Amino acid sequence: MKAFPLFVELDGQAVLLVGGGEAAVSKARLLISAGARITVVARELADDFYAWAHEGLVRIQRRDVQELDIELSRLVVSAVEDEGTNRWISAAAKRLKVPVNVVDKPALSTFSVPAILQRGPITVGISSGGSAPMLAQQLRAELEALLPHSLAELSQLTERYQAEARLAFPDIRARRAFWDDVLGGPIADAVKAGDFAQAERLIATRLAEPTPVAQQGQVALVGAGPGDPGLLTLKALQLLQRANVIVHDKLVTDEVLDLARREARRIYVGKAPGKPSKTQDEINALLVELAQQGERVVRLKGGDPFIFGRGGEELEALRQAGIPVEIVPGITAAAACAASAGFPLTHRGLASSVTFVSGQVAESGKLPDLDWARLATGDHTVAVYMGVASAESIAARLIEEGRAADTPVRVIENGTRPDERVVASNLGNLAGAVKAARIRPPALIVIGEVAALAQTKEAPDVAHPLAVAAE
Ligand code: SAH
Repeated sequence: MKAFPLFVELDGQAVLLVGGGEAAVSKARLLISAGARITVVARELADDFYAWAHEGLVRIQRRDVQELDIELSRLVVSAVEDEGTNRWISAAAKRLKVPVNVVDKPALSTFSVPAILQRGPITVGISSGGSAPMLAQQLRAELEALLPHSLAELSQLTERYQAEARLAFPDIRARRAFWDDVLGGPIADAVKAGDFAQAERLIATRLAEPTPVAQQGQVALVGAGPGDPGLLTLKALQLLQRANVIVHDKLVTDEVLDLARREARRIYVGKAPGKPSKTQDEINALLVELAQQGERVVRLKGGDPFIFGRGGEELEALRQAGIPVEIVPGITAAAACAASAGFPLTHRGLASSVTFVSGQVAESGKLPDLDWARLATGDHTVAVYMGVASAESIAARLIEEGRAADTPVRVIENGTRPDERVVASNLGNLAGAVKAARIRPPALIVIGEVAALAQTKEAPDVAHPLAVAAE
């Protein structure tokens, strides 16, 4: 650890701020919010300081800084440009053993100011020990989106009921379960929704029957998107961080799973080599059982749970068992792959509609029973999921129904992941292209004029069916 995190009480404490420019203004703003008694020493000051002085928030000294200023302070912040002044302040503060921060000069500082996030009484400070302040700022922005604004209200609620909870649940484990319940369940949901009366009613009920009632389990059917963790929704992320159990399958990448709560149990229900995979009925039964045990379950599925994800069947089973279900959509492969390869799915003059089809063949080897004649019309994009094995018959069928053999096609393998490949071809050459490039699932085949708008380095070829656009 480069710097040890401490939170310092500054309410009513004397703090010396040297400098009157922009950097000083932003530091002053922070110090004011901490209730510090601020003295600003500078020859020239931004207007903000005069306004603050008028309100009695800062005291202004228009002169050079002196050793006595430092000696009388609890903390010193130097926000001047002049290197010599900064060195002098740093040396004097160190000698007088007063903690000093020289803005953007970790070598001259004995403490640093982290990037700060505030939600009511909850303060999060992020530090890189001075080595990467921009990264700390970026993390702060990411966390800003992640931490619900209701945290402030939630912390007020916990403060208000702390004493009562201690009385109602003398046993520490029961008390922890109670708070888990308050902070992660319907009470927190009520606070988030702004319904404080409902939250208070629910708390009162829980406190009135202090026997630890088994928590009501629940399942969230969550879309994990195509693989890039950046394409997860905020809601998916929040649920992943609150889950007790995560049930996931093959399409969910490790990068996405890494974002889940560390303590959560993970159950893999995808296919594994050499092992019989779980049937859909077994997965449905597992979800019901976990929820009945009181678990907060996230059922995590690649892409969107309701697009070729069998989410509908799981939803039905859970509803039948009376289990509360939340559904969080995800970015489906077609949307993600088209975006990643840089072409639209619909486009004025090229495609006025798009159809998502499954290319999965029945055991008999027969193509799915689709309206192939309609899919073969121009002005229409076809996105084929699970179509690697059947690419040849799909292309043949579309051509047979009248779609031109030179209709552009893009095959996107591992879309949005580091190993993404985009293969350019056309309907007539599709089978050869898939074979030549040794395309493996997951891969999406997009057929239609829009595919030609992809940012490939090579033009869609006719003679030689292989053009790999990815590096
Ligand atoms: N529910 C998922 C689809 C599951 S079916 C969704 O909405 O995306 C599995 C098929 O989805 C794969 O065979 C492949 O065709 C497609 N797919 C899923 N993720 C993909 C990815 N990252 N790149 C390319 N195709 C993908």
